[in-house]
Order: sequence, then C-alpha cells, then structure tokens
Amino acid sequence: MEAAKALDDKHYRDSLSNVNKKGKRLWIFPKKPSGGYYKARSIVAWVLMALMFAGPFLKWHGHPLMLFNVLERKFIIFGFPFWPQDFAIFAVAMLTGIVFVVLFTVVWGRVFCGWVCPQTIFMEMLFRKIEYWIDGDWKQQQKLEAMPWNGEKIRKRSLKHTLFFLLSFVISNTFLAYIIGIDELSLLMKDGPLAHMGTFISLLIFTGVFYFVFAFFRELVCIIVCPYGRLQGVMLDKKSVVVTYDHVRGEPRGKMNKKEDTSHLGDCIDCNLCVNVCPTGIDIRNGIQLECINCTACIDACDDVMTKINRPKSLIRYDTVEGVEKGQKWKLSGRAIAYSSVLVILVSVLTFFIASRDDIEAVLVRTYGSTYQFQGDDKISNLYNVEFINKTFSEKQVTLKMEDDRAELVVIGDKDFLAPPGEQSKGTIMVVIPTSKVKSNRFTVPIGVYVDGEKIKTFEAGFVAPIMN
Ligand code: SF4
Ligand code: SF4
Repeated sequence: MEAAKALDDKHYRDSLSNVNKKGKRLWIFPKKPSGGYYKARSIVAWVLMALMFAGPFLKWHGHPLMLFNVLERKFIIFGFPFWPQDFAIFAVAMLTGIVFVVLFTVVWGRVFCGWVCPQTIFMEMLFRKIEYWIDGDWKQQQKLEAMPWNGEKIRKRSLKHTLFFLLSFVISNTFLAYIIGIDELSLLMKDGPLAHMGTFISLLIFTGVFYFVFAFFRELVCIIVCPYGRLQGVMLDKKSVVVTYDHVRGEPRGKMNKKEDTSHLGDCIDCNLCVNVCPTGIDIRNGIQLECINCTACIDACDDVMTKINRPKSLIRYDTVEGVEKGQKWKLSGRAIAYSSVLVILVSVLTFFIASRDDIEAVLVRTYGSTYQFQGDDKISNLYNVEFINKTFSEKQVTLKMEDDRAELVVIGDKDFLAPPGEQSKGTIMVVIPTSKVKSNRFTVPIGVYVDGEKIKTFEAGFVAPIMN
C-alpha cells in the first residue's frame, strides 16, 4: 500500500505535466508572474533582445560586427573576420563551448535556460507578454478559450496571431541579416520578393516555424526537443544550484486554518501559486524535474505568499539539493570555484588564440619530391612552395626578402604575392647559393615575409646540398 502510494506520488516522474492520461496535450495557462526576479529577468531580456535586433546594424570599420554567413563560409565575430582556414579556432571554440556548457551546468544548473536562452526570452518576455496584454491573465485566458467563437474571441485571436506572425517575420529577417548582412538584406528588400522568390520562400518558412513554436509548440521545445534540457539528468547532481523547494522547511504542507492548530505544519500553505505561475505546468515541490527551465516565476510567487503570511522568504529559492537537506546556507564550494576557474581558463585561452591570430598566415614547405639542383657549375638551388592566407577584409601584398648575404632569392612568376581578402595566394620560390659558400649539406636560410612593407615573420628555409669534399 505504502509502495503503491509512493509510486502514485511519483507519477510526475513518468508523465508530462501538460499531457493527460489519453496522451492529449493540456494547454498551459500560466498566471502572470511578478516580483523581483521577474523584474530582473525582464531587464536582462530587454537588453539581450535590443542587442540581438540591433546586432545586424552595428558595424566596425565598415563591416558587420557579427556575421554568420554559412552559405559563403564567412564569419565575423565582434569585428574579427574568420575564414574557412580558421577551422582550428572554430574547433577549439566548439570544444570550449561544450566543456563550458557541461561544467557551467554542473555547478550553476539551468541558469542559462531561465535568463539567456532565446526560446525562453522570446516566449516569456515577448510573445507571452503580448498574450497577457490582449487576452488578460490566466483566468481570462481560460475563459476566452472556453468561450464559443464570438466577436470578442475573433477580434482577440486575430489581433494576437497577426502580431505573433509579424514578430516571427521580424525575427526571421533579423536572423537572415546575421547570415547575409544587413546591406544585402536591404538590397533584397529594395528589389522586392518577386525578384528573389527562393529567399522570400525560405524567409516565410522560417517565419512559419517561429510562429508555430511561439504560438503553439511553446514549452514542448524545452521539454521534448531541446537536447540541453534532455541532458539535465546526467549533468545535475545534489551540489548543482537549481530552483528548488525547501521541503525541510515547507513540509508537511497544509492550508492555513485559524480554527485549527496548524503548528505541526511546515511553511508551505499549499496555495498552489507556484504551480499556477509555472510556464511548463509543473509542481516544483516534487523536486528537480526535466521540465523546469529555472525561470524563477515560482520563487517570486512563493516569496509573495511568504511575505503576506509573515514568514521568511525563500521557501523556493536558488539552492542545492544538499543545501536544502542539510539546512546549510549556500556558499561557493571548492568544486564550484574549481569548475568556474577551469571555465575562466578555457575562455581566456580561446580569447588569447583569437587575439593573437595572425592577419596573414604564411607557410613555406620544400617542393614535394625535390632535394637540390645544380645551377651551372658554381651554384646550388633548392625549390620551395609558399602559401599566404589573407584573413583580413582588404587585399594584401606579400613580399619575400632574402636575409642571408650568401644566398639569392628567385621568385618564380610574380615577385609580389597579392592575397585577396579571405583567400589564398600560392607561389614557388628558389633559393640559390654559390657552391663556394656552402659549408655543410644541411642548414637554414632566413627569408623575411613583408606585408604591405611591414615584416610579419621570418621563414627559416631548410637548405639541402650535396656533401662537399
Ligand atoms: S507558493 Fe509557496 S506556499 Fe504556495 S504552494 Fe507553492 S511552495 Fe507552498
Ligand atoms: S518550476 Fe519554477 S522555475 Fe521551474 S519552470 Fe516552473 S516556475 Fe519556472
């Protein structure tokens, strides 16, 4: 009996809060949140949205500040251009990103989901706010839903879905601007959709996807689609900071009743407000759940209740499960400091990689299969292939200069290498040395590499010669 009850109590582990027993989706009408965390999250969200929408318009030295042109494999991140040749940095960045996400989540839980994730920000801070503005709070929304189609419902639904579609169109255009650049997008707009039907259809498809996600799919993105959400089970443990309910303080829960002795009850008055405000429809009092996006709405709701009944706030709060069970105040643990230090080191290394990246990558290798050649009776030469990769926005002129008095540099073809932006320039050079000046059969010869007249590096070209008697 006890076991059966325990199993029944844990039904939330085996079923989704927004799906009924027949597998039909239950629409969630979350109560409008309010409180300190909601205000802080709103400020963060507005700042992030402002940056995102303004991003394509921001330029640095005439080029976009951010560009992710996957079609032409051209990327600009904070004004730094990256080309396909920078794949190594991308690989390091990807690895850093993965390690960062894992370590960050192990220590700080799903803070990202609640405060920074674009899905949460757009859903809770833009589309949901429009919904509250048009349809009213949760009770009015439920009433409207149950209402037969009449003038009011048609008017509200039309207005809401028109605004949702327009916003989705703006978001799609913003993403497109990040891919092709705002100048290119402006040109497409000037030409009109008929002149670029393919692009326009793609834009409409993306608009449709965004509209579907924010108007209908909503919390299901976090619950069943997002891989980050699905991985929470393996990343979180009892030491991770999460939005959690203090069951030690709150249980046994029970309604306030002035006529009865309730002194044996915990602080939770079972008002259900923390459930009512939850955008994923869960009860945080059941413990950490996959559906919880750490949006903090339940913290605000419960703090408000605690204030009203004159009990300490933070019955629901950011804390670790261990902290709640042991009744310890959360403090920065050694593990949190160690993991956070690793994160800082990783980010610093990546920043150093990016900042110290050469504008021109220059490579010199001996021509494949060659050793040395005799030039007449008194000279020996070696052949090399050179390659320059221009990682800047402007064309660069690369010049090579011999820096060893004994030797002569012969460029086969053009003396100067012109490297167009983001492209390679290749060539072949020959180093010629009089036989009388060759003292060993293996040594290096310095060759200066100059870009627009400024020396950027020195090649130490390995020279091979026959063994001299
Ligand atoms: S809001 Fe607080 S008091 Fe009310 S049910 Fe939730 S945990 Fe209990
Ligand atoms: S349980 Fe609380 S923090 Fe988690 S999603 Fe629901 S309201 Fe947000």
